[in-house]
Amino acid sequence: MNTTNHKPGRLFIAAFSLCLLAGTISSIAQPGNPLSPEKINAALDEAFTKFKDVKDGKNADYIKELANVDPDIFGIALVTADGQVFTKGDIESKVSIQSVSKVFTMAKVIEEQGHQAIQDKIGVDATGEVFNSIVAVERMRGKEINPLVNPGAIASTSLISGADSAAKWKNIVQVQSDFAGRPLSLNMPVYISEAGDNLRNQAIAHLLLAYGRMYFDPVQATDIYTKQCALNVNTKDLATMAATLANGGVNPVTKKKVVSPETVMYTLPVMATAGLYDDTGIWFYNSGLPAKSGVGGGLLAVCPGKFGIAVVSPPLDAAGNSVKAQLVIRYVVEKLGVNPYLIQPK
Ligand code: GLU
Repeated sequence: MNTTNHKPGRLFIAAFSLCLLAGTISSIAQPGNPLSPEKINAALDEAFTKFKDVKDGKNADYIKELANVDPDIFGIALVTADGQVFTKGDIESKVSIQSVSKVFTMAKVIEEQGHQAIQDKIGVDATGEVFNSIVAVERMRGKEINPLVNPGAIASTSLISGADSAAKWKNIVQVQSDFAGRPLSLNMPVYISEAGDNLRNQAIAHLLLAYGRMYFDPVQATDIYTKQCALNVNTKDLATMAATLANGGVNPVTKKKVVSPETVMYTLPVMATAGLYDDTGIWFYNSGLPAKSGVGGGLLAVCPGKFGIAVVSPPLDAAGNSVKAQLVIRYVVEKLGVNPYLIQPK
């Protein structure tokens, strides 16, 4: 075979491949752009240094095992919508995902049953009450219980497809893991600690059943929900989960399609209106980013089309949100100028 004859062809293919490659590397993290790697690294470094010595807040202790988690765990991770990973601090230590998991179970229900199912069977208005409020269920007679607080989240878990408890659990672990880009495992001490003490959540599930808003056995649904909250995650897992939402439902690291862009479109507004407990309005006012926190100390936020960012730091403020996580993410958003509502006039 005369290879010389093939050289122009090869050159063309090489040039063509380079063009394709250049095309796939989005402008997100290119030097000179507002989101260059240098700028992202600088913002994370500055935020880490600025807030590492903050001692405000306290670990959650209503789930006894959470009081034993090291309060000094402090990790920051940012994953771009094209899969570049930036980290600072402790990104190895794992905490239980807690309420952050509610986002991804809700997204899976939207994916399986369509967005109208969440609106009709659970409701998407904020309850205006604390995350584990029984009053919120009672006042609305089971309506408008919101998938990001306990009543709506347990209802959401009960809606996940699966003929029995084991199948539903498998489905939930799979979707949470697909968002994170690796198989997540259960933090057994946290699960046992909460399962032995979750009478309030069981009461909520039974009250929902009485109002026709529980879609599986209430005891088993509460148990699956409790396990879901006890999945272990590190900061990078949370940032990858957020980045998958930022990238329209395709995990930018593994490239797996987890949910559709339409599912993401209906997921983010619920985070924007109910992601940080009673302080959601304050958070959204100051960052413009849909986000979700959990009592394990994790907080993730989504910058649509650009990146996901997460921080793990267990001490919480009075509203139940990680103190350092809020400070860091707000700082990074401002530093990078990525609040989606910051509009430069034409
Ligand atoms: N498993 C926790 C509960 O049901 C989750 C609470 C949270 O993170 O907001 O109380």
